[in-house]
Amino acid sequence: MTMFEASLRYNNFNNNHPIETVPNNYDSLVVEGHLLSHAKKAAPPRLKQLAEDHGTVYYIDPALSDFHHQDNFVGDNGIKGWHQKYLSDLGDPVQSLVEDETELEPANLSTDTIIELARQEVQFQETIVPESLEKHSGKYEEFDPDQYAPEAIVPWYYQIESKADIQINRDILRASLDEASQSVKPCLHVGKPFLHRDGHIDSLVDVVDLEGISQCFLWVDDMGKHNTSESDYYRITKLVDELSNAGIEPHFLYGDYFATISAHFGAGGTTYGTMYAEDAKERTDTPSGGGGMLNRYYTDPVKDFLKIPATVDVMRRADADICDCEVCQRHLDDWSDLLDMDDDDDQNMQAFLGKHHLLIRWKQIRKVESESLDETLDRLRGDYDEFIQHYSRSPQVSPKKTLDYIQRWRNAVNRYSE
Ligand SMILES: [Zn+2]
Repeated sequence: MTMFEASLRYNNFNNNHPIETVPNNYDSLVVEGHLLSHAKKAAPPRLKQLAEDHGTVYYIDPALSDFHHQDNFVGDNGIKGWHQKYLSDLGDPVQSLVEDETELEPANLSTDTIIELARQEVQFQETIVPESLEKHSGKYEEFDPDQYAPEAIVPWYYQIESKADIQINRDILRASLDEASQSVKPCLHVGKPFLHRDGHIDSLVDVVDLEGISQCFLWVDDMGKHNTSESDYYRITKLVDELSNAGIEPHFLYGDYFATISAHFGAGGTTYGTMYAEDAKERTDTPSGGGGMLNRYYTDPVKDFLKIPATVDVMRRADADICDCEVCQRHLDDWSDLLDMDDDDDQNMQAFLGKHHLLIRWKQIRKVESESLDETLDRLRGDYDEFIQHYSRSPQVSPKKTLDYIQRWRNAVNRYSE
C-alpha cells in the first residue's frame, strides 16, 4: 500500500491555528479557491512557509463549482464577498454569466463556453499563489514563485447525476488537460443514486481514464455516515476498486473513517476539516453536520463527533482511558475535565477540539495503513462490541443516533471482498 494522503480543508481563517500548530499531522491542504482570491496577502505566504518548513503541498478546490447552486455563492446581500473577488480574478465570461445571481448551469452553455471556463479555472489555479507571492514579497526576497504552484490542478467539476452529465465533465477535463502546464487531478463528483445502475461505475471510470491521469479526487455527494446505506457503501467500494484497477488512485474530497478503510481497496487519500467537513452536499451552504460552532469531540472508538456531555458519559460508562493524543494528555486527567473546558473560553476549546481531531485522524490513517483489511475490520468490530451498549444506553446521546453505520461499513466491505 502506498502512503495514504491526509488532506486538510482550508476554507476559513479559523483553520490558521491548527494548520500552523500541527503541520506534521497532515500531508496536504485543500484550499478553497475563493479564500485565495480574498486573502492574497495572507494565505500564499502561509502556503509558502508550510512548503519550506514541512514539505506540505496544496490543491485548490475549484470555486467555479460553487456557482451551480445559489446557496453556495449568494448571501443576504447578493453574491458573497469572497466569491465576488474570485469572479473579478477570473473576469468574463463567468463574471457576466452569474452577475444576476444566475446559477451556472453547464447543460445550458455552449461547448465553447464550457471550454473557456475550464481554461480560466486552470489559469487561476496555476497563477494565483505564485503571482500573489511575487506581488507582495519584500524587495530583497529571492525565490522562484513557480515553485509554489499547487501539487496538481483540480479542474472545474460538475455533479454527475445522469448520463448527460458525463459528457460535460469529459469536455471540461479535456479542455483542462489541454490548458494545464502541470499535472491534473480531476474530481468525480457523483450523486449516490447514480452509482446503483449497471454500467454507471464503468462510465465514471471512463471519464477520468485518460492519458496523464493517475489520481483523481472523489466526492460522493451526501456521504454522511448516518444517512448512507450499506448498498451505497458497497457501490462506493466498487467505484474505488475499479478506479484503482484502471490505474487511477481516488482521493476522497470529503471523507470520514469509511474513506480511510477504503485505503484497502486502493483509495489514495482523504480530506476533512479541522472540525467536521467529513461529508458534504452540493445543495447546502455548509458541509452537513457542520452547522454552527457547536462544540463536539471526535470520539475515536465510534469514529464520530459527539457532543461533549455525550462523550463524557459514554467514555465513563465504558471506563475508557483518556485519549492518548498529545493535546488530550496535556489537558485532561479525567473525561469530566472536558465539561469544565466546555464552560470556559470558546476559542481555546475549539482550538483544542480541532487539534485533537487532526491528531486522531492522522493516527487512524497510519494505523489502517499498517494493517490488513481483516485486521482493520476486526478492530472495528472490537470497538463496536465494547461501545454499543454504553452508546445506546447513554441518555446524553441523541436517541436518533445509532452506531449502525459501523455495521454498514463492515458488512459492505466484507460483502465486496468475498
Ligand atoms: Zn485526543
